[in-house]
Amino acid sequence: MAISYDAVIIGSGHNGLVAACYLALAGKKVLILEKNEVIGGATTSVQAFDGVPARLSRYSYLVALLPDQIIQDLSLNFKTLSRTVSSYTPYFDDDGDKGVLINRSLDEETLSSLRTLTGSDDESIAWKNFYESVLEFARVVAPTMLSPLPTESEIRELVDPLTWVELVENTLAETLHDNFFDDLIKGVVLTDGLIGTFTSANDHAANICFIYHLIGNGTGEWKVPEGGMGTLVDELHRRCQELGVDIKTGIEAEELVEENDGVCISGKSAHSQTRVEVRAKVALANCSPQVLEKISGIKAPGLRDGSQLKINMVLRELPQLKSGDDPRKAFAGTFHINESYFQLESAFEAASRGKIPTEIPAEMYCHTLTDASILSPELAAKGFHTLTLFALHTPAALFDQDHDAVKEEVTKRTLAGLNDYLVKPIESYLAMDAHGKPCIEVKTPQELEMSLGLPRGNIFHGDLQFPWKSDDDQRVWGVETPSPRIFIAGSGAVRGGGVSGIPGHNAAKAALTALETLK
Ligand SMILES: Cc1cc2nc3c(=O)[nH]c(=O)nc-3n(C[C@H](O)[C@H](O)[C@H](O)COP(=O)(O)OP(=O)(O)OC[C@H]3O[C@@H](n4cnc5c(N)ncnc54)[C@H](O)[C@@H]3O)c2cc1C
Repeated sequence: MAISYDAVIIGSGHNGLVAACYLALAGKKVLILEKNEVIGGATTSVQAFDGVPARLSRYSYLVALLPDQIIQDLSLNFKTLSRTVSSYTPYFDDDGDKGVLINRSLDEETLSSLRTLTGSDDESIAWKNFYESVLEFARVVAPTMLSPLPTESEIRELVDPLTWVELVENTLAETLHDNFFDDLIKGVVLTDGLIGTFTSANDHAANICFIYHLIGNGTGEWKVPEGGMGTLVDELHRRCQELGVDIKTGIEAEELVEENDGVCISGKSAHSQTRVEVRAKVALANCSPQVLEKISGIKAPGLRDGSQLKINMVLRELPQLKSGDDPRKAFAGTFHINESYFQLESAFEAASRGKIPTEIPAEMYCHTLTDASILSPELAAKGFHTLTLFALHTPAALFDQDHDAVKEEVTKRTLAGLNDYLVKPIESYLAMDAHGKPCIEVKTPQELEMSLGLPRGNIFHGDLQFPWKSDDDQRVWGVETPSPRIFIAGSGAVRGGGVSGIPGHNAAKAALTALETLK
């Protein structure tokens, strides 16, 4: 591999592929090196269970942050589908099992559900007012995501002062207590501040995470990727091929050195066990900043542990709920388990002390209720469904010692939390694979680090940052490193995080400027 390239991209996650497409569209010669045999990083779809033709979004599963502009610019044949149900939260009181159903439009069904929980319409009014402010905020921030990084004062000037205080200056804890009355509802709102971020509502890290979860495309709507998340990768791969991007899998970059007129990347080929060396004018790191530090010495910021357990399941049929509510509605949106405000804060506090939370917060959704195309026609006709569960506050530190035993215990407690609300335990609904084993797979933060290189299993490659910069920050795109020839084209960039393609686009823009200005 002696040929020189304009740009080498380390990693074939969707951001690496997006960056490659933009560079190739600008006429540049691009190579992607991927350590795994398959491309796509955390956006792959797989048939996880032998003999069960269901193509699961193994890691990431919903899309909000991917700007429509990227889909259009790259001519991607990729569709996302709306869910009518936003969330369902089962609970029980003195009268028995119930559930709060919140539809995307605040319709009569939602109002009545909130009324049953709280005894009045106050919470519905609070919900409407709060999310209207969030929407206005999203409409200001979203259009800036593919432009040079705005300053904090530029954004602040465009946002309603009270909304700025509530979303940026006050902690999410203060904002939730100021706006909402009910502990369960506060928890449902808080979860968007915690997905992928191990923190308390009292820490501003929750505000940042919350903002990322609510601004996508100016609506913050989380949609179902038609055909599963792997469809996005398939489409990006197709465009890479059309545009002449070279992709080499099974090559782990081990060293990245800046030279006088470019960069040199060396690594090992898993196929031939031989050394590979490649030169380019610039390098884009789609791998995490921690991996970049290891291979180039460019210092990565500190980060908190990844703290989620991802569970994928295939079911023979949808589970019945003790509440008697329709499972086709309950599982279509986000199904919240142990996610009242009190439960979330208690679980964080326990996990921070190194204890497995007794009640593990988790959320879950059923892809196939919105899009059955990920199942073979036979499985769909039989009524099979997939379930994706994402448990919170299970940080990597809990698993450092005795990984397998802790994994078993955390899985047991997580499923027990779900079973509290089901007529029959979830285990009795699981389909069987070709070897007679139940169709359930569980991934810990350590396993994510091993397979994808996510540092400590942190799904965003590092701690998220506000999507703007301080007034004296000299960075243009938020993808820069101390080397003028090396850029971050992954989740670890400012405005990285999530399935968005944004850091891929922004790194390509920064690299194109460098290719113009550097000899
Ligand atoms: C379990 C889970 C659930 C998630 N759910 C969602 C969700 O529903 N919605 C959402 O928006 N986001 C979700 N996320 C986050 C989202 O998936 C990531 O933020 C995003 O996919 C990161 O994309 P990326 O291209 O930046 O990096 P990655 O997808 O992490 O790709 C990086 C690539 O670099 C490769 N690599 C690493 N080191 C090297 C090396 N030395 N040499 C060569 N290659 C290397 C890796 O193998 C990998 O392919 C989830 C993440 C996980 C793990």
